[in-house]
Order: sequence, then C-alpha cells, then structure tokens
Amino acid sequence: MNIHHILHQQKVFFATHKTKNVSYRIQQLEKLKSVLQEHEEMLYEAIHQDFGKSRFDTFTTEISLVLNDIEYFFKNLKRLSKPRKVATNLANIPGRSRIYFEPLGNVLVIGAWNYPYQLSLSPMVAAIAAGNTCIIKPSEVAANTMVAMAKIINENFDPELLHVAQGGVEETTEILQLKFDKIFFTGSTRVGKIVYEAAAKHLTPIVLELGGKSPAIVTESADFQIAAKRIVWGKFLNGGQTCVAPDYVLVNEKIKDKFLEYLRSYIQQFNYQPDSEHYTRIINEKNFDRLVQLIDPEKIYTGGNHDRSRLFIEPTILHNISWDDKMMEEEIFGPILPVLTYPYFREALTEIQSREKPLAAYLFTNKEDEKKLFTSLVSFGGGCINDVIMHLSNPHLPFGGVGNSGMGHYHGRFSFETFSHQKAVLHRKWWGEPNLKYPPYSENKLKWIKRLLG
Ligand code: NAD
Repeated sequence: MNIHHILHQQKVFFATHKTKNVSYRIQQLEKLKSVLQEHEEMLYEAIHQDFGKSRFDTFTTEISLVLNDIEYFFKNLKRLSKPRKVATNLANIPGRSRIYFEPLGNVLVIGAWNYPYQLSLSPMVAAIAAGNTCIIKPSEVAANTMVAMAKIINENFDPELLHVAQGGVEETTEILQLKFDKIFFTGSTRVGKIVYEAAAKHLTPIVLELGGKSPAIVTESADFQIAAKRIVWGKFLNGGQTCVAPDYVLVNEKIKDKFLEYLRSYIQQFNYQPDSEHYTRIINEKNFDRLVQLIDPEKIYTGGNHDRSRLFIEPTILHNISWDDKMMEEEIFGPILPVLTYPYFREALTEIQSREKPLAAYLFTNKEDEKKLFTSLVSFGGGCINDVIMHLSNPHLPFGGVGNSGMGHYHGRFSFETFSHQKAVLHRKWWGEPNLKYPPYSENKLKWIKRLLG
C-alpha cells in the first residue's frame, strides 16, 4: 500500500479521537505484547541472520527492553495520562492550573540497524501509549529484522494505527516529504541533519538520537580491575556496534600497564572467538572494511585479527595512541578500543571538553572531587560513574544526546512526554478578581500592580 495513503488513513483515524481513550491504548499494548511473544522465535532468527547475535544477547539487549517498556506502561499509563496539577501564581488566584497530556497525532519513527528491533519498537510503544498513530521505518541494513517486524506488525495491526514501511534511502526520502506531528530518528549525525532539514519544512518537532565518540576515563584511584571488566563487556557487546559503547579509554599514565593487562585478561576470559555464540559479527562488508582500516598494526596491544568471510574482527586494543590518529577522528562503532593516557585528571577533562559533546561518558574513580568535576564540567548525553552503558537500563533516567549527539530524550515517563503535547490550561473562578488589570489605568493601580507582580 502506498505510504501517502497509509498516512492519510492514520490522519483520518486519529481525528476520530479513538486513540485518546487510555483503555484503547492499553488494549493495543496488550495485543502487541502477545503478538511479539508469539513471534519471538522469528525475531531471534532474523537478528541472528543479520549479524550472528546470540539468543542471550538478543533477549537482554532487544526483546526484553521492548517487553519492559510495555510493562512500564501497563503499570504507569493511567497515572501519566491524568492531567497534572501545578501551582497557581498570585495573579491568577482564585484559579486552578493543569497540564493536559495530549497525543501529538501522527508519528514517524526511523530506526538504526545496530539494535534493529528495540530502536524501532521502543519509540513505537511509547508513541501508542501516548495515543498517537505510528509509521515505523526500520533500518534496511538489518534487512531480515526489518522484514520480520513488517510481517509481525502489518499482519496484526490496522495500518490506520501502525504500519512498518520497508526500504532504504529512497523510500525514507519519500516518507520525509510527508507531514508528521513528530519524527523520532535514531542514527548517524550525518543523516540526522538530513532528517532535521526535512522536518523543518513542515515545522515538525523532532527527536534525534545520534552517536559520537563516548570516552571512558580511568583514574589512579579506581578499582581498575573492575573498570577493565566493565569496559571490556560494554565495548565488545554487540561486536562494538553500540551507540553508547566506550569509544576510547583515557587512562592515567601511571596505571596504564596494569590496566592494559586487565583488559587483555578479560578479553581472554570472555572468550570472543570467530565461532563463539556470544560474539556478534560486523553487520556488513562495508563496515568491516571501514573498521579494518582503523587498525594500525604498529599500535596493536592485543587482537587485530580479522576474517572478512565471517565478518569477524577480534576484540582489538590499540595503545600508544595520540589525538591525531585516524581512529580518533570519528565514532569507531566496532570492536576496536584505543587507549590513550593522561598525566592529570583536569587534562583528561579538558581534552573531552574541547571536542563535540558525546552521547555518553564514563568515569572510573573513588574520589568525590573527581566525580563532581566530571559531572559539572563535562557535557554529555548521559553516562555512569564506575560503569558503562547501564544508565540506559534505568527507566527513571532520560536517555538522549546533547549537541552533536542529538536532541530530545526518551525512556520511562520521558518517552510518554516526548510523544505528548503538554497543554497548559488555567481554570479561573468567576469571582474574587481585583479590578486592577482593566482600564482605565491610574497611578494607584500601577502602584498595586508593582507590589503584586514586582
Ligand atoms: P544511519 O544514519 O545510516 O541510518 C539510520 C536510518 O536513516 C536508517 O533507517 C536509514 O534507512 C535512514 N537513512 C540513511 N540514509 C538516509 C538518507 N540519506 N536520507 C534519509 N534517510 C536515510 O545510521 P545507522 O548506520 O543505522 O546507525 C549507526 C549510527 O546510529 C551511529 O552513529 C550510532 O551511534 C547511532 N545510534 C544512536 C543511537 C542512540 O540511541 N542515540 C542508537 C543506535 C545508534
């Protein structure tokens, strides 16, 4: 079916106000949950075909996240949808003030390939929970997952509420010409700019969930064995193809050698082999070739082996790196971890501050003053102290970028708010109003107004 026609159907359906009913939304989420669970095997298979991801990783980083989002809305949607009471200021007393959460209308979600299922379906779940209709355009790069999602959603839901549109650049360009009430985009900063421009033509509000080079700082006071363990896990999860993976490490020069040894020992312990069930492959040849070029053989501390026929790149640690090296120019987005050193903590912060604001940043330390400096001086989307990635698993924290790493945020109640208009309404009483604001004005009225509002 033609995409123009589907959006038209969604506009007509939204105008019936059916989606404003919270029970209707919950029914749709219940249906979605059972449809997704029924087709779970199909999803495991599709994601495995796309990049050899294990069932364990697919469940923990894809399937469970969408199910958790649905459960979150089962528990919280009624409360979130209620008008929120806020205080009324002196000038409007007697009166009551409320924020009404109103669905925006017709939403477009454009997903990235690296977590092809949850990056498309989590925003979709929130869009429905907030009472919108939704067209989802997953990434064509994870082609099998895109086809599976289209089958699951399009065969089970009316296109007037939900529709998965398949396709790549050409199809997305066509969709972006249409007028939506919100666009939620996950992907690269380069394409984010294209989507932002298209949205501006219709004055469509937009969320951009982009990437960047996310640093991890390891200080002298850290438990650097635990730091190494957590960094190895977060870096090589999904074959390094995670937007919030630590892109590079800045380690205090005094502990560099010990820290590198721990990195190597955890890589060995975690057993990332070409035929390993728990090590995800590189998505395609194009990315494989781009990544292999970033491995400078002279700078390999451990790893560096690769096999194009299997799209396998061994977890690779690079050392003796300077800021001018090639792999420090752009987001790596693969299993290559450059380790740089710094002499003083302040210098590490200055280096990060002088670059584009990253999507995530991580600090490993035991010192309170370092934690304070890090959180107050460095701008980044979100992050952790003494861990990596896990901040995004807490639904009470907003998830999103800042500056070049994006705008807007989601997760938990922030997802609901992202897909809602917050309509402000002041309810006035008929009585109790001083005559001050009405003409004719006088010096005496001005004196009272100054006292009240000044
Ligand atoms: P991408 O920007 O290449 O593609 C994202 C989407 O845009 C896809 O659906 C694609 O079909 C579409 N697209 C591509 N080119 C287009 C064009 N010219 N016009 C219109 N649409 C176009 O990104 P990707 O390679 O899928 O994902 C990797 C990037 O996404 C990395 O930078 C990563 O950090 C980032 N990312 C961010 C998050 C986050 O939550 N902030 C999550 C995952 C990935």
